[in-house]
Amino acid sequence: MGENAIEIEGLCKTYAAGAGQPPKEALKGIDLNISTGSIFGLLGPNGAGKSTLINILAGLVTKTAGKVRIWGFDQDVNPRQSRAAIGVMPQELNMDPFFTPRGSLEVQAGLYGVPKSARKTDEILDLIGLTDKAHAYARSLSGGMKRRLLLGKALVHHPQILVLDEPTAGVDIELRQMLWSNVRRLNRERGMTIILTTHYLQEAEEMCDEIAIINHGSLIARDTTANLLGQMDAKTLVVMPEAPAPDAIALPEGVHLNRRADGALELDYNRGRIAAGDILGALAQAGVTPRDVATREPHLEDVFLELTRSAARAD
Ligand code: ADP
Ligand code: MG
Repeated sequence: MGENAIEIEGLCKTYAAGAGQPPKEALKGIDLNISTGSIFGLLGPNGAGKSTLINILAGLVTKTAGKVRIWGFDQDVNPRQSRAAIGVMPQELNMDPFFTPRGSLEVQAGLYGVPKSARKTDEILDLIGLTDKAHAYARSLSGGMKRRLLLGKALVHHPQILVLDEPTAGVDIELRQMLWSNVRRLNRERGMTIILTTHYLQEAEEMCDEIAIINHGSLIARDTTANLLGQMDAKTLVVMPEAPAPDAIALPEGVHLNRRADGALELDYNRGRIAAGDILGALAQAGVTPRDVATREPHLEDVFLELTRSAARAD
């Protein structure tokens, strides 16, 4: 495969008007490439258009305009090949209650035309930890097991690209960790390209090499996670004084002081404009002797807030 597992150009989606609802422009011309072999995070507030984009990739929603190439295949020219390259774990639990996990995986493989000899049903059951539930009825499975089964169903046709839409929304910590370790393994051991949406920004920060942020149907950022974090100039210096700090402290302009209940001073500053040494100097001048000093780096959450806020101002 080339450099990009997915190439999206000028992608638009307008949902038709219905039942008293006006038409809704959910995607407003998205250009986006997703690198082969990456773990890619698609982030954005509720209603931003994440599921719409993913469902277009999956062939579940018809786009209004634009080009989508999946694994080199144009979705409109080679719909079968482009669908075969991608496996999607949807946001909603849509289960057939009459099948067992083994039955579900077999039926799904059949739908994708995977011949019996090429099926890896046992391997998938093992990967999702449902070997001992292989013959249980779906309605007897817990919510977590159902989600794992959805992951399994996304894998039956051995796709090169795995898409997960909010896989950990509302699931417990144990299941979340299991899902993420599975996903990491598929990426590392099989080189699978992973695309996920999540609104747990910390999770995206830990999991994803590259990130795109969409807001109101437009792309507002797209970079490596490291670059997105690096572009933030906001920093915090946390100083625990030897003795209670005085009420009046003259600080360099642009430094914002928060006094914590435990006596620590939190100083927010812009590292592009102010040096931490100047802040410490000002504290010394005010008679503050630090017992302990720490800095806090920006998190994806800060980047996200900053970007979605400035996009709202531009609206
Ligand atoms: P996200 O996944 O980022 O929360 P969605 O892609 O689900 O966002 O939704 C984007 C916008 O499109 C929202 O305003 C949503 O209400 C609207 N929308 C989604 N699906 C439909 C649909 N089937 N019909 C009409 N509007 C829809
Ligand atoms: Mg969604």
